[in-house]
Amino acid sequence: MAFELPKLTYAYNALEPHIDAKTMEIHHSKHHQAYVTNLNTALSATPSEHNTIEAICQNISKYPAAFRNNGGGHYNHSLFWDVIGPQFDLKPSGALADAINNDLGGFEAFKTAFTQAGATRFGSGWAWLCVKPDGKLCVCSTPNQDNPLMDIAECKGIPILGMDVWEHAYYLLYQNRRPDYMNAFFNVINWKNVESRYVKAKN
Ligand code: MN
Repeated sequence: MAFELPKLTYAYNALEPHIDAKTMEIHHSKHHQAYVTNLNTALSATPSEHNTIEAICQNISKYPAAFRNNGGGHYNHSLFWDVIGPQFDLKPSGALADAINNDLGGFEAFKTAFTQAGATRFGSGWAWLCVKPDGKLCVCSTPNQDNPLMDIAECKGIPILGMDVWEHAYYLLYQNRRPDYMNAFFNVINWKNVESRYVKAKN
């Protein structure tokens, strides 16, 4: 089994001016590719009994650290490219909008909590919107390339939206201004795909 870098369904410059083409190109073709390459190298040394990247994450405590870093990196970035894009709505609709209202106190409260999760993640990591095991939504963050699928995660659930707050995700355009990047991120969220992930996670 070998993992592959997923192709983007949009061009590197499609998210401008919010996320610049150079950042997208390096992020996808260099950073994500490195996680895939290193994960495949780790797999060749330690064959996996699990067939999917989700199952590897869910059993991550059984694997060497290279799986946690690179398997997490592969899962997280694959999700990331899918939940952003040039076709977007500024807000969720349907069942996801209802759940954000019921579980998180509305869209503005969600945005504040999600941005806060990204802002307070020291160093590198991710902010997440997840479906918890009880079916309710929650907002949390994880360090490095960890994610809420992992059996070692403090906050467990199925991620449906992830925001990369590693400096490699924003430094070329925003330098140290993580809050500006996070604000811009809200202009490129593909809420239709987030909602599809929500419906799937609930079933
Ligand atoms: Mn990244």
